[in-house]
Amino acid sequence: MDIDLARSWVQAIAAAVDQHKDYLTQLDSAIGDADHGINMHRGFSAVTTAVANMEADIVGAVLVKAGTTLISSVGGASGPLYGSAFRAIGKALDAPTADPQQFAAALAAGLQSVQKLGAAAPGDKTMIDAYAPAVAAFQLQVDSGGDFAAAAGAAADAAKEGMRATTPLQARKGRSSYLGARSVGHQDPGATSTALIFRALAETVAR
Ligand code: ADP
Ligand code: MG
Repeated sequence: MDIDLARSWVQAIAAAVDQHKDYLTQLDSAIGDADHGINMHRGFSAVTTAVANMEADIVGAVLVKAGTTLISSVGGASGPLYGSAFRAIGKALDAPTADPQQFAAALAAGLQSVQKLGAAAPGDKTMIDAYAPAVAAFQLQVDSGGDFAAAAGAAADAAKEGMRATTPLQARKGRSSYLGARSVGHQDPGATSTALIFRALAETVAR
């Protein structure tokens, strides 16, 4: 990954969020407060502007900038959580390019930072349920000799599977946990946006 690819990734996320804004909000209206699409859209629109013309000499600068922008522009829980993830991913990538092994480690650092901030574990029906399997799948592909495209494709598939698997779960973290057993039977909005983020990565790398 280089600086242009990092920039293309966050722009592809913004495009996907734009396209799925109403869907994300609809999911959040079932078990939350109907603002996830709005939050993500506000955040990634600001990110697109912020990274468009910035000067960068390391890959991570673009992603740190994306994270900082999310934190400052999104009011909901997802802003600080995704913001900390992108900042941690970016901080781990302190060179002009990153190979798949370095990127795998950066994704893991991002996951760790979300878990540190939000204290959610796999199975709590949050973005972690898509993010954790995506990181594991990316690492597994890299370890078995897969290139960036193969790893990103595997991560996107795993995130989608994790997203789908949130439906039967009862929420134990975040706003949806207030619903108790009534959160069962609905797909988690944040796991859904995480699946979009990894699909955007796979599509950007494959281009
Ligand atoms: P809010 O809940 O403040 O309205 P959003 O609607 O933007 O924020 O985001 C909701 C999503 O955030 C949830 O679907 C869930 O995936 C994620 N989330 C909430 N709390 C946590 C947490 N503690 N750890 C990880 N993810 C969380
Ligand atoms: Mg919400």
